[in-house]
Amino acid sequence: MSYKRILLKLSGEALMGERQYGIDPKTLSDYAAEIKQIHDQGVEIAIVIGGGNIFRGVAGASNGMDRVQGDYMGMLATVINGMALQGALEDAGMPTRLQTALKIEAIAEPYIKRRATRHLEKGRIVIFGAGTGNPYFTTDTAAVLRGIEVDCDVILKGTRVDGVYTADPEKDPNAVKYDTITFDDVLAKGLNVMDTTAFTLSQENKLPIIVFDMNKKGNLLKICNGETVGTTVTI
Ligand code: UDP
Repeated sequence: MSYKRILLKLSGEALMGERQYGIDPKTLSDYAAEIKQIHDQGVEIAIVIGGGNIFRGVAGASNGMDRVQGDYMGMLATVINGMALQGALEDAGMPTRLQTALKIEAIAEPYIKRRATRHLEKGRIVIFGAGTGNPYFTTDTAAVLRGIEVDCDVILKGTRVDGVYTADPEKDPNAVKYDTITFDDVLAKGLNVMDTTAFTLSQENKLPIIVFDMNKKGNLLKICNGETVGTTVTI
């Protein structure tokens, strides 16, 4: 395997599958099957999941809600998704732990770096919930932060598009995908990989990001096998 320890970032929206809202059980079990393939190969797996399928703080604020209140609601949404994913992973036979940045003792461990690392060493999949625990941040930032903290080799950002393009492929038919691109080039060309806070944190800490299509079966395993899938953002 090319990577010993990975941080998989899944957006909340990905969990909707074909639905308009919420969680699609089929998508959850499909993701569990994909994750099992790399777990079986001994890859140590940390996961950060978004909450956009349930609630986004910015959306709440645009409807007149207090932004900070909305952001905490968004963080709780990530915990709900984390619990759903945890259930699906355990159903597929993988040991897991959910650690949250906000304390919710009955259902999750508090985030403790050393403990998380120990779980990973023992082959448990660690899901980090509640983002960074702070309003005004995103789960992409939480993914990079935790990825750095627990020493992951790479951030694997599973999305609906299969990489980074010269332009938005859903709007421009001439858009071409990059196999690899540097952090500096992403910035110089104004491309969108992650929000600026997450992106800069990753760049400063030399943590590469691979953007790939999580809905294409086998992609996750291929990446861990060192095959070129999606777009790799490197230093
Ligand atoms: N959020 C937050 N702080 C964090 C992570 C998330 O306040 O550290 C809130 C924020 O309101 C965000 C919501 O949780 O809109 C859901 O996360 P995000 O939008 O990143 O999820 P995704 O787009 O990946 O589904």
